[in-house]
Amino acid sequence: MTAPSPPDLALSLAAVRAAIAQAARQAGRDAQSVTLVAVSKQVEAARVAQALALGQRHFGENRVQESAAKWPDLRAQWPDATLHLVGQLQSNKAEEAVALFDVIHSVDRPGLVKALAVAMDRRGRRPDCFIQVNIGAEGQKGGCAIESLPDLIEAAHRAGLPVVGLMAVPPAEAEPTPYFALLARLARRHGLLRLSMGMSGDLAQAIAMGATDVRVGTAIFGARAALAPPAAEHVEPTR
Ligand SMILES: *Cc1c(COP(=O)(O)O)cnc(C)c1O
Repeated sequence: MTAPSPPDLALSLAAVRAAIAQAARQAGRDAQSVTLVAVSKQVEAARVAQALALGQRHFGENRVQESAAKWPDLRAQWPDATLHLVGQLQSNKAEEAVALFDVIHSVDRPGLVKALAVAMDRRGRRPDCFIQVNIGAEGQKGGCAIESLPDLIEAAHRAGLPVVGLMAVPPAEAEPTPYFALLARLARRHGLLRLSMGMSGDLAQAIAMGATDVRVGTAIFGARAALAPPAAEHVEPTR
């Protein structure tokens, strides 16, 4: 069998935007209230440039190294692009991340809050931050435990991080809606307005539960190589 050919980006982007519009309509929401973050991890720069040329402006990456290689040239050509970090962040890469990204979705522990605060002061740059929650309490998944969330939010506020919302990835095999609803409830409780949730397979359910930032890779760019599985998000939960 031959590998499936990559999707036509104009078609796949239009289809994802239409799915967002439909889900928003069904939820009685304005489609403008949902930001499509095109997750371009493992996607080569030329193809990302195509998506930019088609008008897509928000992109998500999960690795600092890959983004540092790929994005400076793209940004030079499209200065109004917004770059989101959606993958786990090591504290020793905090400064590089602050220099590179406009939004960080994966703030999930006190040590990282400290490192980001120092990096933001040094760089004079303050990317919006989502606190990532391990919403399904999975063994090896990134995100802070639900019990630790109040303390982590407080620490982030105290450190001067611009906390805008919560982010989560529900357990792979489960019906996602209850997890999305729980994340929305937690965000409301803490007065946070944005919800980063919903991927290729569950963006409609996420929008129904209030997602403001959906992170969509496969449905736009096609299947990724199974090589190099990115760190935490793709580890099988231990059962
Ligand atoms: C890869 C990734 C996505 C995109 O997933 P798809 O299923 O390809 O849409 C979204 N969020 C995170 C955190 C990811 O690592």
